[in-house]
Amino acid sequence: MRIIGGVILIFIAIISAVIFLLPEPEGFPILEYHQVTDEPLDPVFEIYNVPPAEFSAQLDYLQAEGYTTITLQDFMRVVHGKGKLPDKPIVLTFDDGYEDNYKFMLPILTEHKMTAVVYVITNEVGKAGYVTLEELKEMQRRGLEIGSHTSDHLPLTSLDKNFQRRQIRESKIFLEWSGLETIYSLSYPNGAFNFEIEEILREENYLTAVTGEAGLNTLATNPYELYRVNIRRPRFGLTEFKFRLFKAKFFAKLRNIF
Ligand SMILES: [Zn+2]
Repeated sequence: MRIIGGVILIFIAIISAVIFLLPEPEGFPILEYHQVTDEPLDPVFEIYNVPPAEFSAQLDYLQAEGYTTITLQDFMRVVHGKGKLPDKPIVLTFDDGYEDNYKFMLPILTEHKMTAVVYVITNEVGKAGYVTLEELKEMQRRGLEIGSHTSDHLPLTSLDKNFQRRQIRESKIFLEWSGLETIYSLSYPNGAFNFEIEEILREENYLTAVTGEAGLNTLATNPYELYRVNIRRPRFGLTEFKFRLFKAKFFAKLRNIF
């Protein structure tokens, strides 16, 4: 047993050293946020809540490090040969469509002259604690991209094909018929996806979809399997935020090996 333990330790040490020594991976991070408030809607989900002061400090840090925020539509324009990406691109995404995204996140974002992508659960729009259609329109006017997080936030892989399509299609149509600009991006509820779901997204005229898997994105990344790194409620301030950015890089390096 001892020998096996030793061998495993040496193996882990070698792998860690190899990963550390690998060249910097290419690509840009996509960050996954949820609520930005001091009072989260449901205490159970408090781990997904970033207080406004912490969020503002994170944006200060990104700015100081020379990052430029882009939307996923900006990204797709470049994929299709129109223009080029800024030096250090980054995408900020917000899942579920909480009211605080409009109340607290948007003013901080505007103050930093940054942009973001907000994914809404369309059957929650306008309900207590969630954004309204007017707030979504205002966000679009200010240059943010609005995306779909499906109609009901059910993990798509657990549904039959017809129901999957309805969740994907009806959420898009609802937003567009309510007066929003065309919806091009989807965030998979619970990060659950497969090839058949990607096929439906293509057929329903979505151009991109974000997962919950850590990594970095390049022009060659499958646009329906974009990597994202989760930003949770920080217990160790900016240090933890830097660690999350490092995590995206670390997984990108791992993917380069395997
Ligand atoms: Zn969600």
